[in-house]
Amino acid sequence: MLPTRQASARQDTVLYTGAALVDGTADHPLYDITLVSRSGVIAWVGPTAQLPPAWSEQGHAVDASGSALLPAFVDSHTHVTLPGGARFMERGFDQREDLLSHVAHNLEIASRWGIRWQRDLGSPIRTDPSTGSVEALTLGRSTERLYQGSGAPRLAKAGAWIARSGFLPEGFPLHVADRAALLDAAKAQIEAGADLVKVMVDSGSSTDSAWSASDLRELVALCNAAGRKVAAHATTRAAAAAAVEAGVDSIEHGTDLDERTIDLMVEKGTYLVTTLSVYESWRSFGRTTDIPEYASEQGRVRSTRLGSLAAASARRASEAGVAIAAGTDAGGGSPRANQLAWEFELLVRAGITPRNALAAVTWRGGGLLGKEEAGRLRVGDPADFVLVHGDPLSDPRALWRIWWVSWLDEVSLRRMAE
Ligand SMILES: [Zn+2]
Repeated sequence: MLPTRQASARQDTVLYTGAALVDGTADHPLYDITLVSRSGVIAWVGPTAQLPPAWSEQGHAVDASGSALLPAFVDSHTHVTLPGGARFMERGFDQREDLLSHVAHNLEIASRWGIRWQRDLGSPIRTDPSTGSVEALTLGRSTERLYQGSGAPRLAKAGAWIARSGFLPEGFPLHVADRAALLDAAKAQIEAGADLVKVMVDSGSSTDSAWSASDLRELVALCNAAGRKVAAHATTRAAAAAAVEAGVDSIEHGTDLDERTIDLMVEKGTYLVTTLSVYESWRSFGRTTDIPEYASEQGRVRSTRLGSLAAASARRASEAGVAIAAGTDAGGGSPRANQLAWEFELLVRAGITPRNALAAVTWRGGGLLGKEEAGRLRVGDPADFVLVHGDPLSDPRALWRIWWVSWLDEVSLRRMAE
């Protein structure tokens, strides 16, 4: 049972006491921290000894001693319309109603695991039967209602993937043949409500990029002028080099980054959004399926090689000073929407400091979103945080042990007190 003080007064105030603050800005926890949440806003946070007495008399008390207090998580790369799994590409061709049910499920499990913000980096295109309009499913009106619940993660949406004709199966992305069509497609996505633009820069060949730096520079100019950022899918050196040179805002995946590109990312402030758990999940499928792509000798070698390459790129980028944000790639890749803890673990295993890895799943993601309050804990910001059992700075598995998600559990707490 949770003790309740002055049950009649300030039912909307919750006092969390005795937590260790771990917010991705320091290498060690700060002990015995109290946070006061009032009407869903952080009213006070600091050392318990400094808590103004007036606050200690109010509302509900939650004994958070022994827990780590972390800002809510930001998943910087997900696909809410898709379920992931070993046949994740095939799922992109599911019926519209199935895709909508994936959205509802993904939002629920992500929120339950403490993800408050998500960047959706591409969704299939479908026809809305009520309006007849052909649209990226994330931008459709029937999907919009699924985002409205107070517990649902806040979503920044790219709309459809934009790819050069021939890259990815027909019917998956928005295919365009040349620079003019690329720019038109970006404009159309923005007009349809996209918060950012996603372009596939991989060409299918490891030595070429699908678009020249000059093509991409025009895309960046168009999008930035409309207040939108450009996210570039780039797993090869050639693709990442062209995208960074053109000034995109983020490299998604960045599986193989060379030194020159890393230096340029530092100089230009380009984010790297890692998705190491995709390759790790492919490795796991080598043991849970007999699908040749993963289970054959060749498949196992490929998954391991790509995983090592991506981990080394992320470590070198982080050491050089590139801002790292982390994503699950849920759905567009094989992981599930609530498995950002896996990415955190893999970043630490790759040799990134726990502090930077924690920043990658919290405030760095907020920076990339352009949302100051995302992934941070400051007075006046939304009281979006989690309590976990264990110190993520010394135990990377601690992020799996969440026992309190403020925006969900405070509602339960109030309901119980009524
Ligand atoms: Zn993706």
